Amino acid sequence: MKSTTTLQNRFNELLQNVREARDSFLGYPVSKDFDYSELYEFLKYPINNLGDPFESSTYKVQTHEIEREVVTFFAKLFRANQNDYWGYVTNGGSESNLYGLYIAREMFPKAMVYYSESTHYSIKKNIHLLNIPSIIIRAKDNGEIDYTDLEETLKFNRHKPAIILTTYGTTMKEAKDDVLKVKNILKKLAIHDHYIHCDGALAGSFAPFVSPKIPFDFEDGADSIAISGHKFIGSPVPSGVIITKRSFRDRISKGISYIGSLDTTITGSRNGHSPLFLWYAINKMGVEGLKKRYDHSLKMAKYCEHELLKIGIEAWTNPGAITVVIPKMPDKIKHKWQLATEGDTSHIICMPNVTKNKIDDFIKDVKQQLYTNNKN
Ligand SMILES: *Cc1c(COP(=O)(O)O)cnc(C)c1O
Repeated sequence: MKSTTTLQNRFNELLQNVREARDSFLGYPVSKDFDYSELYEFLKYPINNLGDPFESSTYKVQTHEIEREVVTFFAKLFRANQNDYWGYVTNGGSESNLYGLYIAREMFPKAMVYYSESTHYSIKKNIHLLNIPSIIIRAKDNGEIDYTDLEETLKFNRHKPAIILTTYGTTMKEAKDDVLKVKNILKKLAIHDHYIHCDGALAGSFAPFVSPKIPFDFEDGADSIAISGHKFIGSPVPSGVIITKRSFRDRISKGISYIGSLDTTITGSRNGHSPLFLWYAINKMGVEGLKKRYDHSLKMAKYCEHELLKIGIEAWTNPGAITVVIPKMPDKIKHKWQLATEGDTSHIICMPNVTKNKIDDFIKDVKQQLYTNNKN
């Protein structure tokens, strides 16, 4: 067994590393400005939300009631039919996407999935796991799905039910696919058997505040929407939410007597603390607070874009996006600021915790680097 001081040292070192890493990142869509200390007491309990949050279960150390409130909050925000919605708190956007695709496949077992080349890697993996045939659709330069290519491709497969994967906020450029345009293409081609899943992992939580609005929600035609809980809202552990229709869930539910509930979720045991964090956050902020967070992020993104343009960096943003797309940065900058990079493109994501000072520090670094490079 290790001595207590060795353990203590390891612990301190780890804490120091995590803290430092947290304080200098601009490249990943994770909010860091939360304070859940009021909830620490709950860490003493083996909370497990196993089973369907909308059904009673035999295991009582759970937060199902809170989880239902979280689901209801987002169902309202995404304009779901108040008499026909369902969902649960997942382990993250990836699981939420898996669930959306799972329901879609159960509804239409012979369907084809269409997703754009800017789609998050979790979608490809999920499609593989579910073994659904799929076709990749071209993306436009701004990262949005190419509607013409989608229409052309659908035309050749009109005899098959269609599952369309739209993204509200792509990973690199935060592009948003227009669900209404997709819906209209389906209508024009008379493909009645269809399902639209919207991946809003990053931007879904602030989608209702984006102006001008980009169609994405249930009234616009989505059948399920996925978000991440640890991204825009912020949480000490990864989490997500999936919202869909109750009538869809009913088709796939199977009663399990061991847990005295319905086995409608992907995993059996489920994190019962995550719903608490999300519930706490949305209750403290409310819709108004969420909007404020978005307004702040948007302002910072505009500022960041402007300052980068001033020093000759070709920065740009999609409309309403909090992600500033930039050319690939030198390794030193990339590592220090933890900038996700794909090909020649990188980005700064102005999450709600990003301040003007932070952006100024970053700009200073970039400027310095440019200056050193030019001198050499
Ligand atoms: C982050 C992200 C995901 C995956 O979400 P996790 O919470 O990391 O599992 C899926 N899609 C998009 C567009 C994302 O930004």
